Amino acid sequence: MDEDMARALLGALSGRVPRTKWTPAGWREVGSCRHSDPNLFYPLGRGAAAAEQAEEAKAFCRTCPSRAPCLAFALSTRQDLGVWGGMAADERRRLLRSQRTLVAS
Ligand code: SF4
Repeated sequence: MDEDMARALLGALSGRVPRTKWTPAGWREVGSCRHSDPNLFYPLGRGAAAAEQAEEAKAFCRTCPSRAPCLAFALSTRQDLGVWGGMAADERRRLLRSQRTLVAS
């Protein structure tokens, strides 16, 4: 995990979107997915086809310069659907739950 990603995760999990070099609009404008079909990032269902689609979306994210702010935005605004910042909705939910468990213990 690179430094930007770590900062984004920490900020989002603590309830703050890190305000570093990105403006809210700025990271969207340079995202690797900006010219792709948005439906790719919103797989429907839970079957093998949906999992395969999510993996295809995550491949975009792995090359994306906006991955950290995108994930921070999704975590801090509790986006409940779709792939953001390289993580599917169920992965983000698990991450947020594990953070709450750590805070509570
Ligand atoms: S991290 Fe993924 S979903 Fe977010 S802007 Fe980049 S390609 Fe799009």
